[in-house]
Amino acid sequence: MPGQFNRRGMLTPEIIPVEVSALVSPALARHGGMVAVFDHDDRLRWANTAYREALGIPADASMTWSEMMRRSHQSQMGAVINTPDFESWLASAASRRGKQPYRQFEVDLSDGRWMLLTQTVDERGWILCIGVDISDLGRDHRELRIARDLALRASQVDPLTGIANRAAISNHLVASFMRDSFKPCVAMIDLDHFKKINDRLGHAGGDQVLKDFSRLLQSGLRRADACGRYGGEEFLVVFSGIDLPAAHEVMRRLQAAVKHSRPISEAPDFSYSISIGMAQAQPREGIGALLIRADVALYQAKDAGRDRCVLAH
Ligand code: GH3
Ligand code: MG
Ligand code: MG
Repeated sequence: MPGQFNRRGMLTPEIIPVEVSALVSPALARHGGMVAVFDHDDRLRWANTAYREALGIPADASMTWSEMMRRSHQSQMGAVINTPDFESWLASAASRRGKQPYRQFEVDLSDGRWMLLTQTVDERGWILCIGVDISDLGRDHRELRIARDLALRASQVDPLTGIANRAAISNHLVASFMRDSFKPCVAMIDLDHFKKINDRLGHAGGDQVLKDFSRLLQSGLRRADACGRYGGEEFLVVFSGIDLPAAHEVMRRLQAAVKHSRPISEAPDFSYSISIGMAQAQPREGIGALLIRADVALYQAKDAGRDRCVLAH
């Protein structure tokens, strides 16, 4: 197919010729750097020896990224994660994982190596992770780069709940609008009677409820979907590649999980509810109009008595 060759007679980068892939596959397997591939459910599909050795993963192990991180953290292998609360760190990292087409960051391995990691996400949501050892590059500017990574994280993450903040989820919605031909569905969620919850439990108790809700929300979404804290007790979900009835089903499950949750151990009878407004982008509809329709649907859910989900027409 001549169209695949560029002016210099080379194949375009999108196509790997058979003889090149015959070299690349064994080279990646033997590569000194770490190479791993995760599927859309974040299950590890393949990793080279260097990756498996660094994280202590047996060759035949099948696990998700979260399971792998938990396991390597327990055995003190892989990345050094300095946090007093590993599960919260993991939930926060998982909720932001695979949301950008390309990401680069540095990690400290427990074996003393310093790695530069890149993550590339394809349109199916599969992630290619490549890490190269940059320990020998010296410590020049390393602290500056760590500070940059921390600042970047702080600008994108809500500190209370660990999920994306308003700016990050809004950027995700814009990116999904520009990238995907299948226009996204959104859900605007507001906790019911939150002022009364604060009155009953105090502000710290209210914060616990926000954390509980964020955990339930985050754990019920596929990796292709994204959520963020949009305001005080208001959250935005962006669904990718599924239609309104399918997204509605996900929200129905969330509502059931919220209803069964008893987040305050000192008040075992305490439970809470949420109201949801959902909309799917129409042809030629802009983001602003889409969010207004979801918001109107949310207020219809409130007016109709709360603890329900309304789909915008
Ligand atoms: P409705 O069912 O109509 O949504 O009633 P509501 O009481 O939830 O109404 P509203 O949205 O007006 O109230 C939100 C309250 O959430 C007001 C504010 O004090 C509280 N809030 C906002 N951010 C936080 C937070 O970070 N922590 C806590 N504890 N409370 C917060
Ligand atoms: Mg509310
Ligand atoms: Mg509100």
